[in-house]
Amino acid sequence: MRFQRNWGRCPGKREAMKVVLENLTKKFPSRNKKDKSEVVAVNNFNIEIPDGKLIGLLGPSGCGKSTALNLICGLEKPTEGRILFGEDDVTELPPENRGVGLVFQNYALYPHLTVRQNIMFPLENLKGAQKMTKQAMEEKALEAAKLVQIEELMDRKPSEMSGGQQQRVAIARALVKTPSVLLLDEPLSNLDARLRLQTREEIRRIQQKTGITTIFVTHDQEEAMSISDYIIVMKAGVIQQVGRPQDVYDQPVNLFVAKFLGTPAINVFEGNIENGWLWIGEDRVLKVDGAEDEEVYAAVRPEGFIFDENGPFKCSLRNIEVMGRDTSLVFRHRSEPENDIRAIISVEERQRVEQVQGYGVSFRLKPYKTFLFGKDDEQRISCTLS
Ligand code: ATP
Repeated sequence: MRFQRNWGRCPGKREAMKVVLENLTKKFPSRNKKDKSEVVAVNNFNIEIPDGKLIGLLGPSGCGKSTALNLICGLEKPTEGRILFGEDDVTELPPENRGVGLVFQNYALYPHLTVRQNIMFPLENLKGAQKMTKQAMEEKALEAAKLVQIEELMDRKPSEMSGGQQQRVAIARALVKTPSVLLLDEPLSNLDARLRLQTREEIRRIQQKTGITTIFVTHDQEEAMSISDYIIVMKAGVIQQVGRPQDVYDQPVNLFVAKFLGTPAINVFEGNIENGWLWIGEDRVLKVDGAEDEEVYAAVRPEGFIFDENGPFKCSLRNIEVMGRDTSLVFRHRSEPENDIRAIISVEERQRVEQVQGYGVSFRLKPYKTFLFGKDDEQRISCTLS
């Protein structure tokens, strides 16, 4: 069932809509007395965020995620570029006229108000034709509370609730005016691991039920990958890659994206393409078609190693770690004796590894789990591995 956008006497009836960012740039003056160069927090974003989807905006701390979100909601003014909601240019509109719902990391609830009063708060300030009766406001607050499943807690104060429950109140408050775009800035950061998991699934459920175009900012790749329809990976103000989470994981465009997605992290080696073969140190590991001879970074996902005593990738075993369902092998390769390599293997493979005498272990590499990147620009080298 879709969320009813024409519910009750809602004053702010709006449809979910696409968000278009055109040449969007935000520069801040330097805060550094010695270095006066500007900080380009958001650098020439050009992207169309589709109607009704959940988008994870992902990147390391300081890459410009919050600034991008603040530009979309109107808390910051762009230095250049435009923002469109549907066909409407909202670049010059103040935040209150954009029809956005905002949820932050710190739930920012009023401690002296009950849950009901907190959720109703955005409706209290409506003026003119939008003004609502108390009863209508209470009905809308209850409807929003039901959506996030806290209707039993309407008379509590924030201090009488868990972090997860408080964040639900904040989401209900953001939804009560029926926004056309919902913006969530690290909404799970204050929650413990179990609640994070629960609340992120809750956000996904609410987003799917309401169909509101939602942008979810996080530095946690697993979080973004698990609930997003699409992810945008950012680095230093620049969009690196946009796509479905699995597609970005399977086809990273550069080394940064390959390293940023996935736990355990991808394993990176210095290698060479020579006469149609990929070499890592003295091991000839995969056939390469369609690439010139050059030095490369070869990156292998942890699930890209097949234990095989005749395999070409010769390593020494350091540890076998069993964590719940997964078994991790930690080993090192002769070419980089200081660096741990981490592989995830199956139970059957583990049993075979355990029978190995000594420390020598060999692997084959899965071609579709191995990516090559240029040594200079760290961009993906287009070629076929086998
Ligand atoms: P985090 O995950 O740590 O919140 P972020 O990815 O959200 O980081 P932003 O907060 O958007 O990053 O900051 C991007 C860059 O812009 C940083 O270098 C930051 O120092 C700078 N910046 C942000 N706001 C301002 C400001 N008001 N004045 C000057 N520089 C700023």
